[in-house]
Amino acid sequence: GLTDISALLLSRIRDVADYPEPGVMFKDITPLLADPEAFTALSDALAGIARSTGATKVVGLEARGFILGAPVAVRAGLGFIPVRKAGKLPGATLSQAYDLEYGSAEIEVHAEDLTRDDRVLVVDDVLATGGTAEASVQLIRRAGAEVAGLAVLMELGFLGGRARLEPALAGAPLEAL
Ligand code: AMP
Repeated sequence: GLTDISALLLSRIRDVADYPEPGVMFKDITPLLADPEAFTALSDALAGIARSTGATKVVGLEARGFILGAPVAVRAGLGFIPVRKAGKLPGATLSQAYDLEYGSAEIEVHAEDLTRDDRVLVVDDVLATGGTAEASVQLIRRAGAEVAGLAVLMELGFLGGRARLEPALAGAPLEAL
């Protein structure tokens, strides 16, 4: 069941204190990626979410969302679309700026990769403040597509990302494994 999968996944995530800066507990997923049983279980669970939401495409958020999202797209039989940090995509892009704790960031998608007929599942490893996910949802809507949902491996509940995302998601599900 899902409880067993969650326990397996949790056992393969390494907590690294004070990385990349003091006060942050970094959730390192590299042990999970290195374990074929855990990585396969994660990919299957996320692919199940992709199917149940009726997604037509999977968007992965740079960089760990690429690693997790690509096998989900393949397993669910869907296209994979990268949302990248600004300046990395060679074609015509849409971009979305968002605020960080200090300063701001910008993400981009190839405009031609999403159409009005698409329902998009967004995949990332960790939902923290929700700023990155919120910007990606805005980007997908501006590209004309619908947001089918957001699926993450882990949600850091104490940071309030779920509440922040509620208006942007507008009823689309947020699933944290
Ligand atoms: P946020 O925009 O605050 O929700 O941050 C989400 C992004 O930052 C995700 O792409 C995560 O990969 C990364 N991130 C934030 N906090 C952590 C953490 N404690 N451990 C691992 N990754 C994190």
